[in-house]
This record gives sequence, structure tokens and C-alpha cells, in this order.
Amino acid sequence: MNKTYILPIEQQNLAHRLSRLSGRIYSKTVSTIFKLKKNKDMWLSKNDMEKLIKLYASEFSMHSQSKQGVVQQYYTNLKSFFKSMDKADNPKPPYRTRKFNKVIYKKSAIRLKNGILKLSNGRGTTPLKIKAKSLNQKPKYVEIIYHHREQVYKLHIVVKIENKQIDYDNDKTLAIDLGQIHPMVTFDGKQSLIYNGGKLNSFIRFRNKELAKLQTKMSRCKKYSNLWNKLNRAKKKLMLKSRNKIMDVLQKYTSHLISYCIKNKVSTIVIGDIKGIRENISFGAKTNQKLHQWVYKRLTDMIEYKAKSVGIKVDYQEESYTSQTCCQCGNRHKPTNRNYICKCGFSFHRDSIGAINILKKYTIGTLEDKTDWLEGELTSSYGIRYKSNSISCQTEWNIRPFGRDISA
Ligand SMILES: [Zn+2]
Repeated sequence: MNKTYILPIEQQNLAHRLSRLSGRIYSKTVSTIFKLKKNKDMWLSKNDMEKLIKLYASEFSMHSQSKQGVVQQYYTNLKSFFKSMDKADNPKPPYRTRKFNKVIYKKSAIRLKNGILKLSNGRGTTPLKIKAKSLNQKPKYVEIIYHHREQVYKLHIVVKIENKQIDYDNDKTLAIDLGQIHPMVTFDGKQSLIYNGGKLNSFIRFRNKELAKLQTKMSRCKKYSNLWNKLNRAKKKLMLKSRNKIMDVLQKYTSHLISYCIKNKVSTIVIGDIKGIRENISFGAKTNQKLHQWVYKRLTDMIEYKAKSVGIKVDYQEESYTSQTCCQCGNRHKPTNRNYICKCGFSFHRDSIGAINILKKYTIGTLEDKTDWLEGELTSSYGIRYKSNSISCQTEWNIRPFGRDISA
């Protein structure tokens, strides 16, 4: 699988110049394609476009592979337009020109020597040099991308990671309880982590409220009228934005989780199997329940994908009664306040009960048995809260191929 790492660039001016050149090539590609489509009603082939750009940009101080990379980038966009043509209401091919564009370096332009990543911009020109001390393999490709919020160019390094099974000598399992109030609550036999759902749920509420407003407005006007189209665009924008916000929470939470599993030598993750998570549900669904199911599906996909990349096994456990049963004596009753308290003397944070019981069911096979299977004192539950600007955990959990000091 591929993994992306982000490093700072010192030569900001050079990055800016390259980004401008890339923008010119991109714009030339767009304008040529549309001129030809308009005058001759044909789409220019990628091969012909590459030849044309070779001539057009022959004087540009840029690696020839980087120039072709821009053309390929455009044709990838165009291809997904052709794919979406029969699905969307009113698809438009990518027609916008760009003043600036990302810069792509293919393998032949990349050198890695003594902890320095050297990116060639063609013969006789200044290369881009990046300190990457702990990078221990040559990247597949590298991109210069502008980060709008910080207003700087950064280097996105894409490396290939082998899926390798880690052999832990112990057999430690971590259980995950998926829920609406907290997207994930985990338990590993000692510690319970509660991933706070406040931000996620407020993103979901906001999306649903705004979507309902737009849909009401749209129902009042004629389909495909100017106003209807405008509202439809706003709707699409809202959906995309919400999706990104939700995905960001899930990415950060799952990265944190995998990081925790590595640190605590967890070899199996078992997820409480809510009915329907493993079926694919489309994002267009209307009810809140369906959106939550969509969230669970994305969440479990991410866990599976990330766990697999570091050699952790993922399994599912049927989870009936796991939230109501006492983990110690097996009596069943619903908790009434923040703490789950049982006559047998067991008490714990109620939100963690589900995860504890999923682990019990998975490892012992039953909830009914009276057991003292919980060894020793439990550490009290630990809450994890989402912050949009916290450093992405990617580098933290994925030990390979970087060492510890990714920032070098
Ligand atoms: Zn009990």
C-alpha cells in the first residue's frame, strides 16, 4: 500500500516558480483540449497532448517527467468525468485553467543520498533539496503541494509499504464498541479508551440541518431552473465538505487507535458487529441512522486497512446484550446513570461496558458465566478528543519506512 508523508520545503521561491510553470502547462492542456472540442468536436488523445506539451514547455526549467505528469493529471480528471457522465445530473469536464498547480516528480527525477532527497528540475537547473534523514527508501513519487491554511509549499512523499505480519509473542486482543454517542470505545483487558463523538456528531447534525433546508427550498422551485441549479450546487458543496470533515475525524481517530495498538502490542482487534455495518450503504441516504451506518462502514474499513498494514488481525463479534450485562457476574440490567453499578460489586464507566463485554464474548465465548476474568484493577476510562489541527498521526503509528524523527 501507499503512504504519504509531508515534509517542509526550504526553497519556497523555487517551489513557487515550479508551481507556476505547472499551472501554465495545466492551463495550456485545458485550453488546447477545449479549442479542439469546440472547433473539431474531438477530444485530443493523451499521447498527442504529451507531444504538444513537450514542444510548448521545452524552455521550462522543469523535469520532462514532471511536465508529462501535469498532462497525466489532467487526463485522470477527464477520465473520471467520462465515468460520471451517466450518473450525475449535469456533469462538466474539468474546464478551469489554473494559475498554479501541483508539481509531480516521478522516480527518474528522484535521488536519495546521505539523507538528502534531491529532486531534479532538468539538466543545468537548480534541484530541489529536502532533508529527509530518516527516509530509508526511495519514494514512488513526490509532489509539491501548496498548503493554503499555512500559505507554504510542502513536499508530499509517497512511499510503498509492504504488508508484513508482526509476530507478537503475546496474544493480546482489543475490542471496539461502535456507537452513536461515541464513535468508538475500546477495551484491551486493562484500559478503556473513549473516542469523543461531540465534534463528529455536531458535523453530522449541521449537515442534516443544512441539507434539509436546501431540500425544502429546492422542492419549491422548478427542477433545473437557475435557482434550482444554484441550490443543487450548494447541496453538492455541503455534502462534500461534510464528508471531508467527517472523514478527517475518522482518519485521526483510527490512526490514534492503531498507534495505541502498536504501543500496547495488540495483535487482534475485534469489532462489535452492528447489524448492517458490513453492507455497503451509499452516502445519499436520508435518515440520520443511515448516515451513522455510513460512518461505521468507513470507520471499520479504515481500521481494517490500517491494521492490516502493520500486521494486526481484525475480527468481528456478534454483540447482543453487550451493553447491558455485568462484566463480572453476567446479570443483565440497563445502566441508569454515568456509572454501571451491579449488585455483585462491579462498577465501571457505563460507556465502556459494551467494549469490555465484546472482549469477554470474543475471548471466553459467553457473557452469562460468573467469572473473575478481569485481572487486577481496571484503569479508569480515558477520553480522546478530536482536534482539527492536531498533527496527523500517520507518522506516529507507521514506523516504516521512516524512523522516529520524520521532520528530520
Ligand atoms: Zn455483577
